[in-house]
Amino acid sequence: MDSSGSWELPEELRMMRDTIRRFMAEEVKPVEDKLPHDAYTPEPDALVTLQRKARDLGLWCFETPAEHGGAGLSLLGQCVAAEETAKCRMGAYIAGCGAFGFDPPVVIWKGTEHQQRFAREDMANGTKAFVAISEPSGGSDPARAIQTRAERKSDRYVINGTKIWISGASMAKWGIVFARVGESKGRDGITSFVVDKSQPGISLSRIPVIRSYSPYEVHFDNYEVPIEDRLGDEGKGFSFAEEWLVHARPPYAAATIGIAQAALEMAIEWATQRKAFGSTLAEKQAIQWMIADSEVELRAARLLVYQAAWNADKGRDIKVDASIAKVYGTEAAGRVVDRCIQIFGGMGVAQELPLERWYREMRIKRIGEGPSEVHRMVIARDLLGGKRTKG
Ligand SMILES: Cc1cc2nc3c(=O)[nH]c(=O)nc-3n(C[C@H](O)[C@H](O)[C@H](O)COP(=O)(O)OP(=O)(O)OC[C@H]3O[C@@H](n4cnc5c(N)ncnc54)[C@H](O)[C@@H]3O)c2cc1C
Repeated sequence: MDSSGSWELPEELRMMRDTIRRFMAEEVKPVEDKLPHDAYTPEPDALVTLQRKARDLGLWCFETPAEHGGAGLSLLGQCVAAEETAKCRMGAYIAGCGAFGFDPPVVIWKGTEHQQRFAREDMANGTKAFVAISEPSGGSDPARAIQTRAERKSDRYVINGTKIWISGASMAKWGIVFARVGESKGRDGITSFVVDKSQPGISLSRIPVIRSYSPYEVHFDNYEVPIEDRLGDEGKGFSFAEEWLVHARPPYAAATIGIAQAALEMAIEWATQRKAFGSTLAEKQAIQWMIADSEVELRAARLLVYQAAWNADKGRDIKVDASIAKVYGTEAAGRVVDRCIQIFGGMGVAQELPLERWYREMRIKRIGEGPSEVHRMVIARDLLGGKRTKG
């Protein structure tokens, strides 16, 4: 809310939203329409062309600070962009199917010039990095579950262990990995490193999942990382990255809202045309209620996302706000897509439309970036611990 008490987005964000909306319709959709239903990225030449056009419009790497070549948006701006760039068939997990570049993990800009070398290449080339936290021993509670070890040997660390569910690992040249140094079993031992995939000791195995864009296991077998690629202090990897991890949640939820909004608009159009029992679906109260409930939930979800982002932009701690936005946004968006499929009937699950694909995506969104149960735990702990964070 601004100082006049208005919930309107600032004008520059509304203009940006409209520009992205046009770009998605005029540039991304025609490229996407030629691709198979489950494709997750355009052909390389088409992607390069899209990226050049987006960059010319200043729509490049929304989170990355302007001094590093990105759009340097506020968190509110990132949420607005995330909602719009998700509105395509490939939706949500790769914003605008990669047209707007891939933000390097923003924590890298806290590192040294040397550590930023790959991120600078990604900014120039529109390529993507990976972030490896989760392990087979558990992803919900990484501070306890991380078993990958980094052993200090004079001027380097030797990393051994396995990461799991790592997005983008196959296309990335580099990544940030969290490993345990020393004997501590909690978060104090965890240290983050920049890892270069071209070096020996890293291998990948693909994990087929509910969608074609697969995550990977990343295996470290005596992988040697020079000390100058340790990101932050030894044992401080978690606190180094924490704010960034929390701030990723509102845009994550915003992207699911974008998909659900696109699904709802399709369902409304269909309901006004399709007839059954002598009248349009739109004339039936059962359908009207599905549409009304969807609108209510999407508006509520969007406001929660905006509130979290707005608080972050004011410099407030948004750990709880981000969990609220993530739980409600991803769950509401899932319900909306489900209802829209119901309104379409058989066509709802046909691959001719994007709905069944979005439905599969939505299922992941309640697990990725922390499962709903973990975010509910964060919210409940805050309330029950008597430290209620004011919204
Ligand atoms: C497609 C995909 C992409 C991913 N990309 C990445 C990535 O790029 N990098 C990365 O590091 N990780 C990534 N992840 C991992 C993701 O963050 C984890 O899957 C998630 O944190 C859950 O961890 P887990 O799968 O080990 O489940 P577990 O930790 O074993 O939890 C299993 C279930 O237990 C329940 N649970 C857990 N804790 C609690 C609790 N406190 N109270 C009640 N119930 C609880 C929840 O229902 C949870 O779903 C990705 C996952 C997927 C599916």
